[in-house]
Amino acid sequence: MAPMTTLKGEKFDRTLFESVLKRRFFFTESFEIYRLSPNFKGDNRGLFDYGPPGCALQANIVDAWRKHFVLEENMLEVDCTVITPELVLKTSGHVDKFADWMCKDPVKGEYLRADHLVESVLESRLARGLNGPSKDSPKLDEANIAEYNDILAKIDNYDGPELAELIRRFDIRNPDGNGEVLPPIPFNLMFKSTIGPSAAAPVYLRPETAQGQFLNFRKLLEYNQGAMPFASASIGKSYRNEISPRSGLLRVREFLMAEIEHYVDPTQKKHERFFEVLAIELPLLDRETQLAGKTTPRTITVEQAVKSKTVGNETLGYFLARVLLFLLKLGVDPGKVRFRQHLANEMAHYATDCWDAELLTSYGWIECVGCADRSAYDLTVHSKYTGTPLVVKQALHEPVKVEEWQATLDKKLVGPRFKRNAKTIQASVDALDQSSLETLAAQLREKGSVVINTPALSDGKTSVELSSELLKIEKTTRLQTIREYTPNVIEPSFGIGRILYSLLEQVYWHRPNDTARAVLSLPLGVAPTKVLIVPLSSQPQFAPIVRRLSVRLRNLGISNNVDSSSASIGKRYARNDEIGTPLGITIDFDTVKDGSLTLRERDTTAQVRALEDDIVGAVKALVDGAEAWEQVCQRLPAFTGRDQDD
Ligand code: AMP
Repeated sequence: MAPMTTLKGEKFDRTLFESVLKRRFFFTESFEIYRLSPNFKGDNRGLFDYGPPGCALQANIVDAWRKHFVLEENMLEVDCTVITPELVLKTSGHVDKFADWMCKDPVKGEYLRADHLVESVLESRLARGLNGPSKDSPKLDEANIAEYNDILAKIDNYDGPELAELIRRFDIRNPDGNGEVLPPIPFNLMFKSTIGPSAAAPVYLRPETAQGQFLNFRKLLEYNQGAMPFASASIGKSYRNEISPRSGLLRVREFLMAEIEHYVDPTQKKHERFFEVLAIELPLLDRETQLAGKTTPRTITVEQAVKSKTVGNETLGYFLARVLLFLLKLGVDPGKVRFRQHLANEMAHYATDCWDAELLTSYGWIECVGCADRSAYDLTVHSKYTGTPLVVKQALHEPVKVEEWQATLDKKLVGPRFKRNAKTIQASVDALDQSSLETLAAQLREKGSVVINTPALSDGKTSVELSSELLKIEKTTRLQTIREYTPNVIEPSFGIGRILYSLLEQVYWHRPNDTARAVLSLPLGVAPTKVLIVPLSSQPQFAPIVRRLSVRLRNLGISNNVDSSSASIGKRYARNDEIGTPLGITIDFDTVKDGSLTLRERDTTAQVRALEDDIVGAVKALVDGAEAWEQVCQRLPAFTGRDQDD
């Protein structure tokens, strides 16, 4: 694993870094004051509250996301409920398959995520050079080291039985107490509850925002006047009952997600703006490289990646590039981002291909954005279950002759026989696809009847038997003027908390030889506060100048903080360097005399001095991205009169 460094290339010290985040209240563990109570029982890990700079940073990241994706591409934003009926998530596959493999340590009563257990034990053995759980274990030889590294490179590819075999073969035990663990079992990650006073209907807290978007597909397509391709987007909380949350904000049980569902024609997953990103270089760690036990990505252009089929299609390639541009805009270090392709067993049940944008942190490479090709999976399963067609109808330029299976219910017989269920049965028959119809036609011929699955009918049954008297399935030929298809979905899915934390690690450094003076080099666009206003004195003539400047900046939409404490100016700047405030304006005795102000830039601590109008103009240009700091320095006189950082 590549070691984490600070922005300036020094060794990253997580303890120091965390003390900055804590001191400046970026975030904190929820219910902190209850945690010491003896009555506060159970596993309450993985829940966090954001403090003022954390909230502002999160809001700025979300704002940047909306501008970069939703506004830029006219995506259709929706805001759907968190509480989701079981039926929806049963249909989507989450009730049965949204699970991680978990081991129990029966002595300690602890639950461990099986892949994380194997990973952490093998990594620690590699670090100790020992091939076993205790200090008396034999030393690792070269073959052991190669085998361990090979397993670690594809750790995400093992299923439960394979993890059980690794645990047995390598005598892997709970690092906490060295106890043996039971074989892994699947643990569903969704939080379950019931709804209403009757508590009869089971519900779950959504594990992703995607399902709400799929369920509204018909309305979205209609809103878009039937035009394809298009994308929907959603920002909201999701919930996952992680087995063993760790690594602070990186693995939590409640987190903010921002997801895009881009709907494409499955026969040509092209993107009309692909040409704009052709030359962008992507650091890619593909499946084959990982299976060969390697972890070094290769950098190729999006154009090459799609041409060589490393990345499956244009739309996926387009979004990988757009995701990279977004992360760089936030201030992510270009050398600390890569795209890793999922291994076959690692992929979620709905995905046919998936690339994760991973950011390097002190915890290793962390998946921050998942870019999946969900094919037509979700729309198909919801459509099949509900009988609601979730399809696109495309007018053809020239009609084509098509041969297809057609199912016809005899309405005169079906109506009286099935009464109020007749409509549901009709919808289920209408939703049958061609291959099902072909199979059913053969069954109808052989047995004289077929069984069709339906949503729950009035007698509680979820299928119905139809005889050949009621149902006919025949091959027909017709001239098709409209093509009907279920779109495929390309989904970039962002974990905002993970991006926020990883970004903070990547922009952290400290002034030379002074670990106490930490700096967060957040770009102006996302920094919680843009400008610090520092009056040098508390004398009354300073107050109106401070107030006027603050209001002026606020009216321009530029967030600012006034620090009129009695701390030295150096201390006041240092405090704000720690929350990443990029600019500082000092009001001193000369300001009172001649109206001039100094403007300081956080990273270089360089200062310029000019009249208020010029300083405010420069701040505005910097915030808007119209000017860089170097340009401001060329335009306005440098201020070297006093080293205000002392
Ligand atoms: P997934 O649907 O599993 O691909 O997750 C999409 C994104 O959500 C990931 O790329 C992460 O950024 C984020 N995410 C998933 N699980 C968690 C978690 N337990 N805590 C924080 N973020 C998460």
